Amino acid sequence: MRTYIAAAAAVVMLMLTSCAIGTDGGQSKSSETFFAMDTYVTVTAYGDNADGAVKAAKDKLTQLEKLWSVTDEGSEIYAINHSGGQPVTVSDNTAELISFALDMSDKTDGALDPTIYPVLTAWGFTTDENRVPDESEIAELLGRVGHEKVSISGNSVSLQSGVMLDVGAVGKGFAGDILTQEMKDSGVTSALLDLGGNIQMIGTKPDGENWRIGLRDPKGDGNIGVLSAADCAVVTSGSYERYFTADDGKVYGHIIDPKTGYPVDNGLLSVTVIASEGRLCDALSTALFVMGLDGAQDYRRQHTEQSFDMILITSGGYIYITEGIKDSFTLDGEHSRMEIKVIE
Ligand code: AMP
Ligand code: MG
Repeated sequence: MRTYIAAAAAVVMLMLTSCAIGTDGGQSKSSETFFAMDTYVTVTAYGDNADGAVKAAKDKLTQLEKLWSVTDEGSEIYAINHSGGQPVTVSDNTAELISFALDMSDKTDGALDPTIYPVLTAWGFTTDENRVPDESEIAELLGRVGHEKVSISGNSVSLQSGVMLDVGAVGKGFAGDILTQEMKDSGVTSALLDLGGNIQMIGTKPDGENWRIGLRDPKGDGNIGVLSAADCAVVTSGSYERYFTADDGKVYGHIIDPKTGYPVDNGLLSVTVIASEGRLCDALSTALFVMGLDGAQDYRRQHTEQSFDMILITSGGYIYITEGIKDSFTLDGEHSRMEIKVIE
């Protein structure tokens, strides 16, 4: 069995080189592509401070990765997971990230669960040596899962016995928020960050036009359509990003329903969330994918305090899109026959 890892879920429709400095719309441009947080990251900024801001963003992301990696023995997450239940004092960024993940786990009724790691490991998604665990193994591992098994007080974090923390479903979005804030603080007014498909924008393109964000076709290699957006975040979750085919021919994706311990199989192929903050987009794209088409719409109706738009693609070939962005999304030519349903 093999795991397939698709390229970034959303691609930015710009030509980017690994490290480039030039001009665009009369403004100087700086862009760098590198590998961090298990994915390819491209940071592009415009204006006088672009070069320094891109370098600083790269340094910061590398630093956050060192804190949040679940496998790096020097990370704060590793320290929490291997402290034998003793409280571990972590940095402000890590404490905020964990608090946010726990809060979102609570709000999504556990659809997002940063303690799902032992189950994920049993399915082999952490090692790429995939297998289908038997039901009793899953049931036993689910006993170690639940956000209420994590305690955080200030910067001190502790876990109940056997519990493991993994911030993989929220870390990139949270990092995107930290990076964009730092770039704004250094005077950048036009920038685009692509953290493996987690897109975060500062302002518009330097010419004042919206950015054009390509949404991956969850069934193929190309894009399904393009979203025109500015000054917000766009994050996609989907099982097509990482999956394996078992010996019986069944396909299992990398997003687990914490209620069952099985990979999500609810007719959704991808969920894209659009909001002002990357952390909310990242947490919700994973959680809404777990909830399914009806659950995602119920959640949005019930959580009006969280302002966000979404695009849901189903295996039946429908695209559900919230009203606020329906005029900003255009299907690509070969997909123009797909039916778009507007969520009021
Ligand atoms: P994302 O790509 O942001 O949707 O995050 C998916 C990743 O989060 C997976 O590759 C797993 O590492 C982890 N994960 C899988 N299922 C869940 C879940 N229900 N809650 C939190 N993290 C999860
Ligand atoms: Mg996520």
